[in-house]
Amino acid sequence: MHIGFLGLGNMGGPMALNLLKAGHRLTVFDLSPEAMTRAVEAGATAADSPIAVARAPVELIITMLPAAIHVRQVYLGSQGLLNHVRPDVMLIDSSTIDPMSAREVARAAQERGNPMLDAPVSGGTGGAAAGTLTFMVGGSAADFDRAQPILAAMGKNIVHCGDSGNGQVAKVANNMLLGISMIGVAEAMSLGVSLGMDPAVLAGVINTSSGRCWSSDTYNPYPGVLENAPASRGYSGGFGTDLMLKDLGLATEAAKQIRQPVILGALAQQLYQRFSADGNGGLDFSAIIQTYLRQQP
Ligand code: NAD
Repeated sequence: MHIGFLGLGNMGGPMALNLLKAGHRLTVFDLSPEAMTRAVEAGATAADSPIAVARAPVELIITMLPAAIHVRQVYLGSQGLLNHVRPDVMLIDSSTIDPMSAREVARAAQERGNPMLDAPVSGGTGGAAAGTLTFMVGGSAADFDRAQPILAAMGKNIVHCGDSGNGQVAKVANNMLLGISMIGVAEAMSLGVSLGMDPAVLAGVINTSSGRCWSSDTYNPYPGVLENAPASRGYSGGFGTDLMLKDLGLATEAAKQIRQPVILGALAQQLYQRFSADGNGGLDFSAIIQTYLRQQP
């Protein structure tokens, strides 16, 4: 299939490479010349604007942009896709944005005759490179079925979450829980160690008891407990504190719009915000444990 792809960053770059590997033809656009060069060297055709992508004979366009402001600009702006794309071309936005913006852009696309799905991902840059992302997809069942084989070239779990915007709903709800659970594990590990326990023994007890969760058994924030976790390599790589802060902001903002209390989500947002303000935004989010440790291990 001939696919348009906009946004070739840390996630979009490797996702585009996996589409090329699967035999699809790609016409790509990114504001970054370096990102464009990497995609073109891998076999993609360069376009010099979103309009040029829209005017290419593509059957589907995928976007992977930083935030809602970029998504609105690329789809709804006067130089954007919707003013120029042929009707029936399917549109898939995989950026992580708030559900309300996703619904608004999808409505505008559908009014112009373009089916649209929101399909944010989890799995990080490692999952993007390996083609093992999870896609949380919002939109009609028929559009989901059409997109499924394409998404399968970039991901392993492709989940239909319901109507437009529900992919983003699933993403913000999951990541809010992740942000909260990481702080819970950090607090419990710090308490146990400060009271005299060996961190590995404590983690072992938690992981075979009722406190167990992904943040404790796969991504434990205490250094040295899990060899392959960011905590054991100075909190480098992994999922950055600023990305977690962005997702918690989306969750609390979406909650505010419907007057749904997210008490722990808001508290978690403030803790990561302070941690980021202290200069730690680039560290993996599990480094939040440093706010609890009396002596940094
Ligand atoms: P990134 O900043 O590395 O890449 C974004 C790319 O979009 C950049 O190359 C930038 O030049 C390009 N861009 C920005 N505005 C543009 C425009 N108007 N037209 C064309 N290109 C434009 O970000 P990323 O890490 O790839 O993340 C992309 C999205 O995926 C974000 O919404 C993020 O929250 C989400 N996400 C990221 C991760 C992760 O681990 N990095 C994991 C899951 C989801």
